[in-house]
Amino acid sequence: MDRVVEIEKFETDINYETTLRPSSWDEYIGQEKIKKNLKVFIEASKRREEALDHILFFGPPGLGKTTLANIIANEMGVNIKTTAAPMIEKSGDLAALLTNIEEGDILFIDEIHRMSPAIEEILYPAMEDFRLDIIIGSGPAAQTIKIDLPRFTLMGATTRAGMLSHPLRDRFGMHFRLQFYTEDELSKIITQASTKLDKETSNDASIEIATRSRGTPRIALRLLKRVRDFAEVEDEYKITLKRAKYGLDELGVDELGFDEEDIRLMELLLSARGKPLGLNTIGASLSEDESTIEDVIEPYLISNGYIERTARGRVATQKAYTHFKLQFPQNIEKKGTLFE
Ligand code: ADP
Repeated sequence: MDRVVEIEKFETDINYETTLRPSSWDEYIGQEKIKKNLKVFIEASKRREEALDHILFFGPPGLGKTTLANIIANEMGVNIKTTAAPMIEKSGDLAALLTNIEEGDILFIDEIHRMSPAIEEILYPAMEDFRLDIIIGSGPAAQTIKIDLPRFTLMGATTRAGMLSHPLRDRFGMHFRLQFYTEDELSKIITQASTKLDKETSNDASIEIATRSRGTPRIALRLLKRVRDFAEVEDEYKITLKRAKYGLDELGVDELGFDEEDIRLMELLLSARGKPLGLNTIGASLSEDESTIEDVIEPYLISNGYIERTARGRVATQKAYTHFKLQFPQNIEKKGTLFE
């Protein structure tokens, strides 16, 4: 079964994501500090008639990294090419991308932490000197061909800041870390999207959906779409609080936006009674990929204070024990150091 609060992109959702994707700053809700800075840098580089410096976006999936890149391209009046690091397997793949762009254009590489070291090496001179050094052949007969590139902007997006190599990270002139959205911001995103979908949503229904969206616009939009289905089969022209609650309960999303996966992880940590569990133990117990736990499931739980990451593993916090109506084990109280 699909995870209801799944944040990966699905084929079927691409169309609705494109139509609901904000194309201007006005429609891009929240992340105010990032927007403010970007507006200044865009204005400055437009005045200098130069390409924008390379930009790196960090943050869990679904928070609006790709959307930001597209808005920047619009604002700059340049083309944007989008790819993901795992799709660039050979030096020729990168060369094909870079030799096909024009002055000022943007190359957006998603999941940039998954770039192979060999490709990274080729990217460095391209980012720094706008030059491609391609090696043809091998052994003593190998030749390096240098190709001049137009001045372009590389935008990288990653869910894992820590996995990026230092040399690559340092070559980005701007770094932006996206934050989870507040309920208020998500409810504005929901209201805006329901207008675009031509389906009115009452204020309290928007807030209800927002509360259960794990701070993530992509989840908010997906839940809105599903709740809209529930309203439509009941012939309701408007999404009401009652229908939103009903739909969300049917979808198995609880009042805090926790779904089955979150609850399984929390239950595992709670049953450990304060003993820190390592990522590999958690992965094995839940039969879940470690990277999914690290990138998708736990960031929201950590950022909201339900889980803590310690040097020896993950533990559930007092807030988690309270939410699940369990007694907090006394022996884990002291200074975050946990019992042996
Ligand atoms: P990421 O690249 O970080 O995985 P996306 O940029 O693809 O996330 O955003 C996911 C969806 O959420 C997009 O389709 C977009 O419509 C919506 N979205 C993201 N951020 C915002 C925002 N700040 N305001 C309105 N909608 C947003």
